[in-house]
Amino acid sequence: LTAPGQLFEMEEVEAGGSRIRAWKHAPATFRTLLENSRFHGDKVFVVYEDERITYEDHYRLAATLANRLVTDYGVRKGDRVAIAMRNYPEWIIAFSAVLAAGAVAVPLNAWWTERELRYGLSDSGATLLIADGERADRLAGARLPAIVVRGDGANWADVVGEAAADVTLPPVDLDPEDSATIFYTSGTTGRPKGALGSHRNLCQAPMTVAYAMTRGAALAGRDPAQVATVRRITLLTVPLFHATGCFAVLLPTMFSGNGLVLMYRWEPRRALELIERERVTVMSGVPTNAWQLLSHPSLRDYDISSLGSVSYGGAPAPPKLLERITRLLPDRTPVNGYGMTETTALAIYNSGPDYLARPDSIGVPLAVIDVKVVDPAGVELPAGQVGELCVRGPVVIKGYWNRPDATAEVLVNGWLHTGDLARIDADGFVYIVDRAKDMVIRGGENVYCAEVEAALFEHPAVDDAAVIGVPDEELGEQVGAVVLVKPGAETTAEDLQEFLRERIAPFKVPVRFWFRDTELPRNPGGKVLKTLLRREALGR
Ligand code: AMP
Repeated sequence: LTAPGQLFEMEEVEAGGSRIRAWKHAPATFRTLLENSRFHGDKVFVVYEDERITYEDHYRLAATLANRLVTDYGVRKGDRVAIAMRNYPEWIIAFSAVLAAGAVAVPLNAWWTERELRYGLSDSGATLLIADGERADRLAGARLPAIVVRGDGANWADVVGEAAADVTLPPVDLDPEDSATIFYTSGTTGRPKGALGSHRNLCQAPMTVAYAMTRGAALAGRDPAQVATVRRITLLTVPLFHATGCFAVLLPTMFSGNGLVLMYRWEPRRALELIERERVTVMSGVPTNAWQLLSHPSLRDYDISSLGSVSYGGAPAPPKLLERITRLLPDRTPVNGYGMTETTALAIYNSGPDYLARPDSIGVPLAVIDVKVVDPAGVELPAGQVGELCVRGPVVIKGYWNRPDATAEVLVNGWLHTGDLARIDADGFVYIVDRAKDMVIRGGENVYCAEVEAALFEHPAVDDAAVIGVPDEELGEQVGAVVLVKPGAETTAEDLQEFLRERIAPFKVPVRFWFRDTELPRNPGGKVLKTLLRREALGR
């Protein structure tokens, strides 16, 4: 390929029962993506603390592990292998190895409690666990072979051993439609569902991001060809076990031979140090990350001149954030990306001058993506009208793992129903207006109300409960709960919090409680009227 334009040629493919556009030159499966990444040889791929892993290192380690998975652990095509760890370089190597072996990678949320992790293992039917010491301890009772990374009982070095220079990937025939990943995301049913992504999905995603960057450069008046030649160093501020971290940041980095700086946990001061030390060019995460970085009292003490763009997505970005970026970092390109786990991350994107002109929009769909807004009957609405946003394209997942019912609810003729209420203006710009789904987004981490409510109902003193979002300047939203206590029973916010901490991850535990002695307002169908509750509780 000689010109960047050629890279972004499209073709029509058959997927999900309809014909859609896809990137013609995307790698066919992850194995091709991994093999191609080896051409970047000695360039640094991953930085973690003082560790530096080159593309060649990564290839050799991943290929070696892939062979071990097949020979020592009996992993076969289609088997599920769970990965439960923080953002360590081994997460990336494990992910690459599992996919190269033809198995399905099942990243589990590292903040999950033992109970939630066990659910992830049993729901996916994982036959092997690759975990860091802390997660392995949490799952000590699970009878599952495990490869343990860092911490007590780590056997990673024994398993991976010496990574030989002539190592090749284990033989396995893969097709773009083969399953590649299961990322857990919740729904109205309360229990997380596994979003099943194909090799096509995950190979189309980095192309979509590359297209977005090229288009962004052109919008900003720069030479788009430059995007391919300038080395980008991205600071990853979100977990790899989320679609954003994996599909919108990790895979695009690997695809284009750039560098990725990992953080064990998000911490604004550490982020500033790393931007200075590693000459980071892109900061990528959720709006909360950008907001906290720009509000940090030490912002001016660090040299962050290398930073060319501040990009975020995964949660609503308040126009105030954009104002802050333009005031504090005037020559940087702000980028707002919209996507879901079910769209393999990025689908719609607003950047540079487009974004400045329409700060409340998530932008336009990326070339291979179609969007429409429909009424409750599924009928497409004209420009300007509010309805449910639907997305179609080669990044839309195959469905939910083992859940044909849930799949049929969201995937209709290849169109994904997002559960977000939106309008599209006459120029094709999309505006998210509200959320139809019952969910709180706390600093980019989704909390499904039904799941927290189900855990609350297990408490003997709780008669009824409803979980609502409480506006928060930094995190966007915090979790709150309105509780009706059983007659004669007693409980407190602290008691409920302690009870919940055993059952659900800390970020899902409500920070505010409202106790009431009258029934929760419900519609005739029995659904709690949350807008009304929110107004009562918050006075708005
Ligand atoms: P997840 O599957 O965890 O990535 O969450 C996807 C949901 O996050 C979407 O359905 C939206 O409700 C929300 N979301 C993602 N990106 C944006 C954005 N840029 N602006 C507003 N909401 C967003």
